[in-house]
Amino acid sequence: MRPFEYVRAADAASSTAAVAAVADAKFLAGGTNLVDLMKEDIERPSRVVDIRSLPLREIKRSRAGLSIGALATNTETANHPLIRENYPLLTQAIVAGASGQLRNMATNGGNLLQRTRCNYFYDTATPCNKREAGSGCGAREGLNRMHAILGWSESCVATYPGDMANALYALGASVRVRAPDGRERLIPIAEFHRLPGDTPQRDNTLEHGELILAIELPVAAADFARNAHYLKVRDRASYAFAMVAVAAALDLDGGTIRQARVVLGSVAHKPWRSAEAEAALTGRRATEATFQQAAAAALRDARPLAHNTYKVELGQRSIVRALMRAARLA
Ligand SMILES: Cc1cc2nc3c(=O)[nH]c(=O)nc-3n(C[C@H](O)[C@H](O)[C@H](O)COP(=O)(O)OP(=O)(O)OC[C@H]3O[C@@H](n4cnc5c(N)ncnc54)[C@H](O)[C@@H]3O)c2cc1C
Ligand code: SF4
Repeated sequence: MRPFEYVRAADAASSTAAVAAVADAKFLAGGTNLVDLMKEDIERPSRVVDIRSLPLREIKRSRAGLSIGALATNTETANHPLIRENYPLLTQAIVAGASGQLRNMATNGGNLLQRTRCNYFYDTATPCNKREAGSGCGAREGLNRMHAILGWSESCVATYPGDMANALYALGASVRVRAPDGRERLIPIAEFHRLPGDTPQRDNTLEHGELILAIELPVAAADFARNAHYLKVRDRASYAFAMVAVAAALDLDGGTIRQARVVLGSVAHKPWRSAEAEAALTGRRATEATFQQAAAAALRDARPLAHNTYKVELGQRSIVRALMRAARLA
């Protein structure tokens, strides 16, 4: 690992100032992603600003619904009674991720900002536009079994690997951030992560020095809380990233779907909310046939790579299964 300056921040203002002052500085939260990347020589911050003692751990009711501190751990968040009761989809998604030990360390802010698991991104001997802009993409013609089938560009075919964010997209969350000048802004989660385009080195829309303070959840429609399911398909039953994940939620009026949310994980550079699937569900009867039509609509524009054609059918089947479970038909 390269030498770096370690700064322990006393408050939010000094932490954002300390990061903003150095172009390659990074915040340190649980360290479960950043420290690994530093050891692999992929992240090379000359300054690391430790934010772990900031008072950003609270999970509390807010005017809009629920506010979840950026430094609350994944374990604290998944187990919190307000979340288990009102947003069980979020609990399911978090506990599907990583392992118990990692979730005890990992924070919500760090989880949102975790970087891709593309093998070529981790291998500094191969080209990678995300690691080094303009160097090329090892995965485009390489072993791309785990890579994107939607929204990719010739510059980058990586996926966003996280689980928690898929549920947050389905629940309509926003991310509250603080800029170094003290101003706060609320970023709708749909605008937080980005597609790669020509600048895959940027994973999200945060500006340098902006600190995530909290994740804000709107009041959950009672039905979305009851009729929701997170499905993660992976190579091993635990401690593995998804090949495909689905966050599904239904608002049902008897057997008719009033509203639906379908978000696919690990198929694109960001969680992929499918407007096509949701349109195919709205106003229809909640049946397996309806869910199959929605699944077909969601993957109609998929563009698989040489080694991940399997993700198209797997994605469709996963959508159907997640919706069947959300509707309590399976
Ligand atoms: C073996 C392994 C398996 C895993 N499996 C899964 C899985 O299946 N599913 C899943 O979702 N995740 C998985 N993870 C990822 C894990 O969830 C993340 O590493 C973790 O959530 C990151 O949180 P952290 O607090 O440790 O972040 P850090 O490593 O401390 O930080 C990550 C990034 O976020 C930035 N950052 C952190 N907090 C803030 C903030 N408040 N404001 C602004 N920037 C901030 C840091 O500067 C850094 O760039 C796995 C990780 C490992 C090591
Ligand atoms: S897919 Fe993206 S992260 Fe992976 S090698 Fe290509 S540019 Fe790098």
